[in-house]
Amino acid sequence: MLKKTANSEIEARRKKVMARGVGVMTDHYATRALNSEIWDADGNRLIDFASGIAVLNTGHRHPRVMQAVEEQLRAFTHTCHQVVPYENYVHLAERLTDAAPGDFDKKAIFVTTGAEALENAVKIARAHTGRQAVVTFHGAFHGRTFMTMSMTGKVAPYKAGFGPMMPDVFHVPFPNPLHGVSVDDCFRALDGLFKSDLEPSRVAAIVFEPVQGEGGFNPAPAEFTTRLRALCDEHGIVMIADEVQTGFARTGSLLAMDRHEVAADMITMAKSLGGGFPIAAVVGRAEIMDAPAPGGLGGTYGGNPLGIAAAHAVLDIIRDEDLCARAEDLGARLKDRLRAIQGFMPEIADIRGPGFMVAIELMHADGTPAPDLANAIRQEALSRGLLLLTCGVHGNVIRFLAPITIPDDHFDEAMEMLQDAARAVKGA
Ligand code: PMP
Repeated sequence: MLKKTANSEIEARRKKVMARGVGVMTDHYATRALNSEIWDADGNRLIDFASGIAVLNTGHRHPRVMQAVEEQLRAFTHTCHQVVPYENYVHLAERLTDAAPGDFDKKAIFVTTGAEALENAVKIARAHTGRQAVVTFHGAFHGRTFMTMSMTGKVAPYKAGFGPMMPDVFHVPFPNPLHGVSVDDCFRALDGLFKSDLEPSRVAAIVFEPVQGEGGFNPAPAEFTTRLRALCDEHGIVMIADEVQTGFARTGSLLAMDRHEVAADMITMAKSLGGGFPIAAVVGRAEIMDAPAPGGLGGTYGGNPLGIAAAHAVLDIIRDEDLCARAEDLGARLKDRLRAIQGFMPEIADIRGPGFMVAIELMHADGTPAPDLANAIRQEALSRGLLLLTCGVHGNVIRFLAPITIPDDHFDEAMEMLQDAARAVKGA
């Protein structure tokens, strides 16, 4: 059992001063972290299968990220690129426009958070098309600002009480075979939307996640993106792939869209791009990206030098440590272990996800979602020192987001903890 003395004392203080709207999933207060391990205020060690919500594909404090940031710290920490620019910002734009899929000229902007990337992608699409409407999907998560909250496809807890939402944001179903939603169903719904509510010539952008993250690790089938591309082309709509959670080797390729036949017009990136430092980007077709006039985009901290330095190191690490291949390998091993657990836990209705973006969905025997079970496993795992996250529209999905740099012995240890936690929950 993990100790809770110092942790509990801080937790009591937190409750007095922190608004409860910032939900906190554990009461382990971090004091130190390295690669796939976190130590807390009581000296407990956690194996991190959350990665600060998909931020640490390269692990906590990767030595190369630390070195790059330390060098940048010694040079300068902030000038604001809009005031006095710097070369490594330009170079990162060169690297990302090169790396992003799509055989066309691209340009980039840097901002600080995922939500900010999505906000800017919509602004750019509106400026380019002169249109207003945005279509997104049920179960989508795009952020907590007003526009991205409106684009998010889940009411509680993200939207409840915060209305009115932004106008001209529409939602249609996202493919989800386990819940009986086919690709055809999605396009029928889009067709219906275009007939009943919204003429397609008013749509600036359709925004989707190549694998829905918060929504439950639901992959977009290849057929879906191909048909979406055709639909966007037919109506002059900007196709935006939100890769905030899927990016940077998590799915077994640098970007999840690398595995699709078609390219999006714009890609939003954040989280693991910065290896633990806040940086986000929008990368897209040059002529679309150039639609807003100078001064229309930006922000004081956008492309902060520390985030830029970290991002260069992240790209180097992914290449030099072959993290895409490692993600495939770890994902396959994880799925094997999950299938073994499924042997005594038939409530595991699905084991899914590309590369190392893997999740299980839990359902009761009567076919209803089992968020209670997902939570019980999460709690049991945590009490053994394994940090897991849940997700999904019904809260019945457990996602496994360990750093892709996790050493084999920690991965194996985590698998034992997971199996023990599942057995404890089942009383098996
Ligand atoms: N898009 C996706 C797909 C995300 O997963 C998230 C964060 N979970 C966001 C956008 C918002 O990112 P941020 O929290 O950095 O604003």
